[in-house]
Amino acid sequence: MKPYDYIIVGSGIGGLYTALLARENGSVLVITKGSIDDCNTRYAQGGIAAAIGKDDSPQLHLEDTLNAGGGLSDEEAVRILAEEAPARITDLVNFRVPFDTLDGEIALTLEAAHSVSRVLHAGGDATGEHIEGTLSKEVRSVGPRITVLENFLATDILVEKGKVTGIRALDCRTGITEEFECRYLVLATGGAGQLFKYNTNSAVATGDGIALAFNAGAEITDMEFFQFHPTALRMPGVPPFLISEAVRGEGGMLRNSQGYRFMADYHEKGDLAPRDIVARSILNEMKKSGSDRVYLDVTHLPAHLITTRFPHIYRFCLDRGLDITRSQVPVAPAAHYMIGGVRTNSWGETNIAGLFATGEVACTGVHGANRLASNSLLEAIVFSKRIVERTKNKSKEKAAANSRVKDMYSSLGHRPVLRAVPVPGLAALQQLHWDKAGIIRDKDGLDQAAGVLAAWQNSLPRPTDQPSYELSNLVLTGRLLAEAAFIREESRGAHFRSDFPRTLPKWQCHIVWQK
Ligand SMILES: Cc1cc2nc3c(=O)[nH]c(=O)nc-3n(C[C@H](O)[C@H](O)[C@H](O)COP(=O)(O)OP(=O)(O)OC[C@H]3O[C@@H](n4cnc5c(N)ncnc54)[C@H](O)[C@@H]3O)c2cc1C
Repeated sequence: MKPYDYIIVGSGIGGLYTALLARENGSVLVITKGSIDDCNTRYAQGGIAAAIGKDDSPQLHLEDTLNAGGGLSDEEAVRILAEEAPARITDLVNFRVPFDTLDGEIALTLEAAHSVSRVLHAGGDATGEHIEGTLSKEVRSVGPRITVLENFLATDILVEKGKVTGIRALDCRTGITEEFECRYLVLATGGAGQLFKYNTNSAVATGDGIALAFNAGAEITDMEFFQFHPTALRMPGVPPFLISEAVRGEGGMLRNSQGYRFMADYHEKGDLAPRDIVARSILNEMKKSGSDRVYLDVTHLPAHLITTRFPHIYRFCLDRGLDITRSQVPVAPAAHYMIGGVRTNSWGETNIAGLFATGEVACTGVHGANRLASNSLLEAIVFSKRIVERTKNKSKEKAAANSRVKDMYSSLGHRPVLRAVPVPGLAALQQLHWDKAGIIRDKDGLDQAAGVLAAWQNSLPRPTDQPSYELSNLVLTGRLLAEAAFIREESRGAHFRSDFPRTLPKWQCHIVWQK
């Protein structure tokens, strides 16, 4: 069979947007392990950031993003993100993403750590569903230039003489493995929230792209930075459904189990403090009161504001017997967003010729040590566009260098395997990460986690089906995370070490893994 010009792995915002642009350059194959709409993108609530408001500018957006990034963001990548954002929003509007409007203008909301209202939303709190729905409908309607293979799980990147030649994938329905050739391979496989017991992610977020890229020899960086969302619903028997930050942006208040508004005790911005601070403050309040939750109170806001601005959240809670216009919402933190990933330059290129990464699996350097809310959907479209530009016009412009911050290269060493360990199940793996590599970490816990993960890696049989491939990918991704968190003896952004609570200048560097 003739090689495809592009193979794109994943059908969230990164994969679909890349496919729609790349079809102008050549043939496109999209491989996705579930249905086209199985992804994190469709769960995104709050929105997508862009400096399109009258009181806003790309410079302000850049400054807010750098402030959140804790000294590890790549300024050039952030500048590209902020400056190209308005044009990419226009692209989404042209694809007919139905952003909410107010008096004929696109409506903008405020989210934590943004200095002005700059977050666009659709369907109130169903932004991701509208973006995913619009893009997947478009992909389905464009005809033979884009082939979509659903229920195909990419298992290996094929590399010859340092250049990508294609991908091996498992047909999840028949169990048969096939190889597909291409000129350019774009990983758009999303995050790894399934590492943790409590997470807001889709079941497909199992770190596959990290494992594939690492095994192929790509650089993986910033793995110790995993963002925990402070407010996921905490009700017995109910999944940790996200209660968007925008709820606090619109005036929602956090209270502990005594009804006390505690956030002002922790940060000058109170309920709108950065995510990592809110998450740790909540944990502290939970610990003090011996409760497994705190409460988000919106009962003082007009009921119609809640039902029209957050219809999805309102309906989800109401279906489970909780009317949030009358009762406080029980919440607790949950794993949310993988900041680190496959290292790319400002054109989405990795260190392997022909291999690109976009969206949550990529580490473009935009987020640094902590992601600013609503920058991730934006990052996916800005850098997907640049991947397509780059592959169209290869020699025109030099890629910007990676971050000027220094690098610390590591390779996974052999940890002593103390004893034979039983092959883990998903639940054991998720509990291990939650307990030992979660919101608050320390040396002993991380050492234990890394040791157990190394032992599991040795004991796993060769994967044969989707669950065993995903488990194996989670073990490797988790190991890269735990080992990096163990090495980084400081606290910065989303990485908090109780034994090293300060940010230290000597750690202003990236930990980079390469096989
Ligand atoms: C609940 C929730 C709310 C969020 N809210 C916001 C928000 O308001 N604003 C914002 O900017 N960000 C938000 N985020 C983050 C944002 O949604 C994600 O970072 C973004 O959607 C990721 O897009 P993606 O295309 O990289 O990955 P995804 O949308 O996760 O898509 C990944 C795709 O890859 C496929 N895949 C994975 N592995 C393989 C494999 N081995 N073979 C084949 N296919 C594979 C998956 O099936 C899936 O189709 C939120 C995330 C969650 C979970």
